[in-house]
Amino acid sequence: MKRIMSAETPKFIGKKITISGWAETIRKHKNIIFIDLRDRDGLTQIIIENVNKKSFEVAQSASIEDVLKIEGWVVSRPKGLENKNLASGKIELHCEKIEVLSKSKDLPFEIEQKAKKINEETRLKYRYLDLRSNRMKNNLKNRHLVNQFVRNYLTEQGFWEIETPFLTKSTPEGARDFIVPSRLHKGKFYALPQSPQQYKQLLMVAGIEKYFQIVRCMRDEDQRGDRQPEFTQIDLEMSFIEQKDILSTVEKMIIELVKKNYPNLKIKKIPFEKLTYNEAMAKYKTERPDLRKNKQDKNEMAFAWIVDFPAFEWKEKENRWDAVHHPFTMINPQDINQLEQKDKSKIRALQYDLVLNGFEIGGGSMRIHKPELLSKIFEILGHKPEDIQRKFSHLLEAFSFGVPPHGGLAIGYDRLMMILQQEDNIREVIAFPKTGDGQDPMMVSPSVIDQEQLDELNLKIKS
Ligand code: ASP
Repeated sequence: MKRIMSAETPKFIGKKITISGWAETIRKHKNIIFIDLRDRDGLTQIIIENVNKKSFEVAQSASIEDVLKIEGWVVSRPKGLENKNLASGKIELHCEKIEVLSKSKDLPFEIEQKAKKINEETRLKYRYLDLRSNRMKNNLKNRHLVNQFVRNYLTEQGFWEIETPFLTKSTPEGARDFIVPSRLHKGKFYALPQSPQQYKQLLMVAGIEKYFQIVRCMRDEDQRGDRQPEFTQIDLEMSFIEQKDILSTVEKMIIELVKKNYPNLKIKKIPFEKLTYNEAMAKYKTERPDLRKNKQDKNEMAFAWIVDFPAFEWKEKENRWDAVHHPFTMINPQDINQLEQKDKSKIRALQYDLVLNGFEIGGGSMRIHKPELLSKIFEILGHKPEDIQRKFSHLLEAFSFGVPPHGGLAIGYDRLMMILQQEDNIREVIAFPKTGDGQDPMMVSPSVIDQEQLDELNLKIKS
């Protein structure tokens, strides 16, 4: 018989069906046993009476989190005994036949226990159990729905979803790269992308015009707070546009998203607040102000654009200017004449951040599309001419073949989901996150590799 999901059961009142899932609770009495059976959509209450000896025996041997298959009759619950919190709350299933498909050991923690009470390392070690809970399933489901929304929305707006490589070359996004040794080219290394920045710009050179990708980015940074060594961006890039076009594309998408997928949340102000970097710093002393009226109110979504960031910041330790965003960011045309000046701190970039409730949830910029200006910026950032050739010749050459004015933005998807799901940490909205110090206790990673693998890669571990 075809398996029925718990949420569908009320459609089968008076009929015999088969359901399967995990035993969330089992209450055993002398002549009757109650089981709450969980599948992805929710729970169904099963009643096993001591009339069918064999089934009753099997039910008696069952324990929590065993996987069961149950055949039985769908019966309306008596008036007053309905459970409004369950999709199947109007019915109960009277068991005729029960089968244990697989047994479960005793669990390291209760599935529906409040996550905060369980040590996080234990949760991550047994993530597949942690994800059985209602709350975590809900986070994954809603993330899936936001994925679909974004894909459909941007497709309707004329964007193409294009995958870019993970095995690539070091990109200057300001963080440390994760490095992958090449076996075929001994002594050479790939870098994992800190973002698809250069590829998406090259797609603009290719004439793709509107690109997006829901993409993993890898940055080998010291972990703090809600950082992860790999995280997801909703990344986009557009050609023949101005800054205002990117802001309005993203703003409209987010407003639609909240209205459609999160109607319970209130956007504080439409159009979104817009502040220059200097205004934000003067008024709120931070580049990501929390503009909510009531800071405790998790239903309020206070979005703000922060624009006109400075292009350069002085790195005292390295004794050089660094790009505030990345080196491909367009200089504000009004400030270009200041590039030769010694003090570059007043030069503004066409760079913007999207802030939500005090978190930076996105950032981007218009890009430099003139190769001479790009070379000039690399020089200002302290790259020697031979390094510029080695690191960026692909981009400079591409830009010599006709490049459209372009710009884009990337949304920090994990953070956005964290806020939409009203969670306190991005790990709650990622299926398999790493611990605060970048480890995966479930897979036990990072881990040592065999000597054979090291030899093949021509690598030696310093003792
Ligand atoms: N690649 C940039 C980042 O990861 C975003 C952008 O400029 O589009 O921050």
